[in-house]
Amino acid sequence: MAKSKKSPLGRRGFLKGAAAGAAAFAANPQSVGAAAQEQDHDHQTVPSDLTLRVKSLESLLVEKGIVDRAALDALIDTYEHKVGPRNGARVVARAWTDPEYKKRLLADGTAAIGELGYQGEQGAHIRVVENTSKVHNLVVCTLCSCYPWPVLGLPPVWYKSAPYRSRAVIDPRGVLQEFGTEIADDIEVRVWDSTAEQRYLVLPERPPGTEKLTEEELAALVTRDAMIGVAKVSGSKGGRI
Ligand code: FE
Repeated sequence: MAKSKKSPLGRRGFLKGAAAGAAAFAANPQSVGAAAQEQDHDHQTVPSDLTLRVKSLESLLVEKGIVDRAALDALIDTYEHKVGPRNGARVVARAWTDPEYKKRLLADGTAAIGELGYQGEQGAHIRVVENTSKVHNLVVCTLCSCYPWPVLGLPPVWYKSAPYRSRAVIDPRGVLQEFGTEIADDIEVRVWDSTAEQRYLVLPERPPGTEKLTEEELAALVTRDAMIGVAKVSGSKGGRI
């Protein structure tokens, strides 16, 4: 894979932008709110009422010594990186090794994912979109942070950030480059905008040289980022999930 030119707004930039927005709001909610309204994106910059309430509760519980912030961080990290995405990785590995399952998965993602025991909330459908040698899929929620949580767990912070949500649609190739993912010009990039009713999971391409791996070994290669579409699956183990 060719090394990409990293612009100032990479994964780190998305994270920094999200954190800066929250910090600026905490420092001066009115001015940030006004500036955001000028851009017609107040709901993107200002944390929601629910977010603020959760933050306040967390601060209170920590202050009173009822919960330990490090323990909370560890718990969130587990759901964000380990428990959730492992479900999706199993779905992908099954699709790579069982052509009939793959057919069912692409025809009705919700039902095929349910076959492996992963159920979502009522009314939220998961559509699985397949990466091929001609098409690369990228998932975003431009409005908020809709995410296929039964297969991916909690969304990463950058997925919920305003820069990712807007730029994934305006300049998907640029965003992919910032994640270090180079997509050749002759490959079509499709962007899928999630909603409360319709979530998306990317079925990445099976990397070459993995023909002898078991389903379990294949699942270990599949990363969360590859199932959102900001990365590809590499044939060597060690992908961050
Ligand atoms: Fe959303």
